[in-house]
Amino acid sequence: MKTSEMFLTTLREVPAEAEIPSHILLLRAGFIKKLVSGIYSFLPLGNRTLKKIEAIVREEMDAAGAQEILMSALQPAELWQESGRWGVYGPEMWRIKDRNQREFCLGPTHEEIFTDIVRQAVSSYRQLPLNLYQIQTKYRDEARPRFGLMRSREFIMKDAYSFDRDEAGLDVSYKKMYDAYSKVFTRCGLNFRPVEADSGAIGGNNSHEFTALSEVGESEIVYCSECDFAATSERAEFKDEKQLPETAAALEKVSTPGTKTIEAVCKYLEADIKHSIKALLLQVAEEEGDKVSYVLALVRGDRQLNMTKLVNALDVPEYLVSMADEEKMSSVTGCVGGFTGPIGIHDCMVIMDSELSGSVNMVCGANEKDFHYTGVCEGRDFKADKVVDLKLLQAGDPCPCCGKPVKTARGIEVGQVFKLGTKYSEPMNCLYRDENQVDHPVVMGCYGIGVSRTMAAVVEQHHDDNGIIWPMSIAPYHVDIVIAKADDPVQKALAEDIENKLEALGVEVMLDDRDERPGVKFKDADLIGIPIRITVGKKAGEGIVEYKLRRGGDMEELEAAEAVSKAAALVNAERRG
Ligand code: ATP
Ligand code: MG
Repeated sequence: MKTSEMFLTTLREVPAEAEIPSHILLLRAGFIKKLVSGIYSFLPLGNRTLKKIEAIVREEMDAAGAQEILMSALQPAELWQESGRWGVYGPEMWRIKDRNQREFCLGPTHEEIFTDIVRQAVSSYRQLPLNLYQIQTKYRDEARPRFGLMRSREFIMKDAYSFDRDEAGLDVSYKKMYDAYSKVFTRCGLNFRPVEADSGAIGGNNSHEFTALSEVGESEIVYCSECDFAATSERAEFKDEKQLPETAAALEKVSTPGTKTIEAVCKYLEADIKHSIKALLLQVAEEEGDKVSYVLALVRGDRQLNMTKLVNALDVPEYLVSMADEEKMSSVTGCVGGFTGPIGIHDCMVIMDSELSGSVNMVCGANEKDFHYTGVCEGRDFKADKVVDLKLLQAGDPCPCCGKPVKTARGIEVGQVFKLGTKYSEPMNCLYRDENQVDHPVVMGCYGIGVSRTMAAVVEQHHDDNGIIWPMSIAPYHVDIVIAKADDPVQKALAEDIENKLEALGVEVMLDDRDERPGVKFKDADLIGIPIRITVGKKAGEGIVEYKLRRGGDMEELEAAEAVSKAAALVNAERRG
């Protein structure tokens, strides 16, 4: 493809709204263009890379035995009402009505729609197992769309759904997808890590996220270098540290003037922070209307509250839970900001971290300004309505598997695999009949890859100050031939000859024949990030060209034929990823 004929729109300036390298570079190199917040168009280069990622995904999904279909993005509300999600999905769902006022949404995900199609077609165990997938546009009206393709409101996802007779079958389907995902991300050139992930209120060890390691990532993972443990921070289990036995003292209300934080209280009372209880004030909104209910969450003073664990324990949609309005909560429950504790609080659910079970001689707020209690004993002085692990596992905390201190890293969630069980098949009556004519709900799994997000994640991991450095497998073109002087007939003829020879070998070539200074073309070449650059310049008359890799290494002067075979060999070695 001649660059002079391409719809190419590279930018010199950093677009104002872009903060992270992938967003800046994909805009600057003309891969994507913003339409409105969180909604992007893919320009020719971006579209080529996107299609290559899709092709890798497709190959690995097909190899794993999944079958591709294509569903509509428009989904009728009735199916979501059947599964019970229409009411709980929240403001992320784009809801629309047709001319007859029938409700639809633009699909954020497709569990209901796949379940529906399978329940209509499958009746017998003989038709299982089954794995169906699609590569399709998804819509989520994200609260904070940002970082370009990373968190957009319209994005491309590969979503797959497996249908099995039983848990054992699901385990097999899940493993196949897990392995296929590892191959996909490896082939895309990502440095990634599969980690245990949150599986919502269902709980259990039912999900993994594939995380591309990156400082700009929005996910945090915790892992152990001594054993295999790796999980998202949201999910990571935290083993309780048991208090050593001690004699219970009497409950005493003590003056603690001006000590609003747990650290300040402990310092003032000369108490060990492990002997203190931190209280967090939260509210749960109703799905409709202004009413809220209050929740007091308790963790040990030196721990942090894990919001995901709390939301799972409350078993309500995440978007309904937020920090409480302190004054309003105070008027209902008697709590006092900075001095809140479980003793004497009313009209509010108390949920306690399991580590506090049976704790004695603790310090906590007295629900009175400038006062705390000491000698607080769980069970004797207060009781929680619910007791679960609510702690956030942080760097240095003990590994839940082996006890060694864990480490943390940031990453981008590029995919997730999930064992759904009968979460959808049961309410939606997706049944199969076994050998004995008995009906059972189909056991399901769901598996997502953020195809467009993957493109951004690759750029995050593969760039330098000058631009993108595409891995061969997903580069929009393999070779960029730069003609130093576009109006020089000798240079032009040699460049076109190289182009033809490479194309005959199946290599994808961009030929920069624009009437621009060489410097401009080199800058664009670096920005766009084509893996191999062949420059045809002054020595064209002698049949000599310059050969250079975008990833680094020296520039070489080669005979044109040698440059062709060298480029073709590298492309063939790396194009599959
Ligand atoms: P996140 O936690 O980042 O919001 P999610 O867990 O809600 O993502 P899934 O429902 O698991 O996302 O969707 C499958 C995949 O789709 C994700 O692993 C991610 O790669 C991608 N994805 C999800 N939301 C977005 C988005 N707003 N923009 C781009 N890709 C997304
Ligand atoms: Mg996810």
